[in-house]
Formats: sequence, structure tokens, C-alpha cells
Amino acid sequence: MIAGVPHVAGTGAVPVHCILGRNAGPMTGPGTNTYVIGDRRLAVLDPGPVDDQHLEAVLRFANGKPIDWIFVTHTHGDHSPGAAPLQRATGARLVGLLPPEGSGQDPTFTPARQFLDGERIDCGEFTMRLVHTPGHVSNHLCFLLEEDGLLFTGDHILEGTTPVILPPYGSMRHYLQSLEALKSLPLQALAPAHGRVMKQPFQMIDTLLRHRLRREQKVLRVLAEQAGALPLEALVRQVYDDVPARLLPLACKTLLAHLLKLQEDGRARCEWQAWSGVGQHER
Ligand SMILES: [Zn+2]
Repeated sequence: MIAGVPHVAGTGAVPVHCILGRNAGPMTGPGTNTYVIGDRRLAVLDPGPVDDQHLEAVLRFANGKPIDWIFVTHTHGDHSPGAAPLQRATGARLVGLLPPEGSGQDPTFTPARQFLDGERIDCGEFTMRLVHTPGHVSNHLCFLLEEDGLLFTGDHILEGTTPVILPPYGSMRHYLQSLEALKSLPLQALAPAHGRVMKQPFQMIDTLLRHRLRREQKVLRVLAEQAGALPLEALVRQVYDDVPARLLPLACKTLLAHLLKLQEDGRARCEWQAWSGVGQHER
């Protein structure tokens, strides 16, 4: 994939194209995928960061066709800030969930109204269903292109890597529930915000669920094996001994999400910013 060059991403009857943003990096992999959906009247999903060249590439691809809708999966800087300039250029209606108060996420994001989980938006040529998927962050939405069973997964499911869970607005418990709930949808393929389209949606979801569960088991094992309580920064080196050191700051966030879930479950405790297992030394 080359940034700015549209390529076909559709898997069914509805035309879907992907324009890769120019924001490749450690947090975004190859960059943010901006999807353009429709034939004569278009919707744009995840416009990405503010970037005149990327906006230009999207408008050039639209080639004068009206852009009626802008869908935003969540309000991180690599997904939503480009929505405001695209909306000014097109008059499109903006769909997404407001960032949690105090989170410091994209303050320019102003959806057309309040939207609800399960809402179906009739876009004329196709129907988009909103699926609230808290976990990565609390205001995360996936969008189901109903005609083709294509789910736009934002940062909920990524290709080639696993999403970071970001407490306090992200939650491991919600993440696992949101993943599990996707299995009841009529899915044919997954279109992530970073990486390529995945054609085996249910297999992918199960792989992710297993991965998270295995990591949780490893957290419990490390907590059980240590003599005293450990701060997060020490714990992460043991629980994530399989990832490169440069990824540890991110792993720390997901580890905290695991620990907070285990604390709620009564299996871990935190005192003076050090974590220990609960009920494991008795064994
Ligand atoms: Zn994100």
C-alpha cells in the first residue's frame, strides 16, 4: 500500500476503497486507513489526522461526487481530527461518539447529534450499523456495512498486531465483552484502521480473545511467583518478556488494564503502587 493512492478494499457488492494516510509510525503501523464507501454518493470513514495532502487525495478520489457522511471510529489523533476540514469542504454529516470528558482527546470532534449503539444509518446505496465497542477507549465504534458483512473495526481489531488498551478510558473487561459480542454479527470480513482487510473474521476474533486470556494467565503466574509486591514498570518486563523493549511503555498500559480487571475480580491488589496476587501465597 502506498500512502495517498486509493486501492480496492471492498469484499462484496458495495464499492469500498482505502486511502492510506501519510502518518506511518510506531503507534499507527503503516498509517491510518481512510475508507471511502459507495458508488455515486459517498461516505468516508476515519479521515485521519489533519493533513491537507491526505484531504486532497480523498477529494480527488471522490471526483466531485457528494460525500454525505463521515464516520469516525474514535477520537484519537490519528482517526478523527481530519473530520472537521473534510466536513467544511463537503457539508457531510459527522457520525461518532464524543470523547470522554477530561480525556484530552480531539476537541474539534462535533458529531451531528448523539448516536446510539445498534443504530442503522441508511446511506441510500448501503446501510451502516453502529456497534459500540468500548475497550481500546470507551467511545469506540465499529461500523457494519450490512450489505456485505464488512466490519470497519477501527483500533478494536488490527491486522498484524494487537490493540493497546488505555485505562482509565479503556477497559480490559469491556474490550473482552465487545470482542465476544461481535461474534453474533453476520461478519464476512474485517477492515481495520491499520493494516490490511482480514477475510476470516471469526477466527481473528477468537485468536484475539485467546491472546488476551493467555496474557491474563501470564500476569497471574508472574504475580504468584514473586515474593513481594512489584511496581508496574518491573512487572511489565516479566509479563511482556516476549516483546521488544521499545514497546514496553505501550505494554504497560495494557498490563495496567489487565491488572485493573484482575483487581475487580478479586485476584490482584495494588498497595503503594505495587501489585501482588490475591490468595496465591496460601497455596
Ligand atoms: Zn486509537
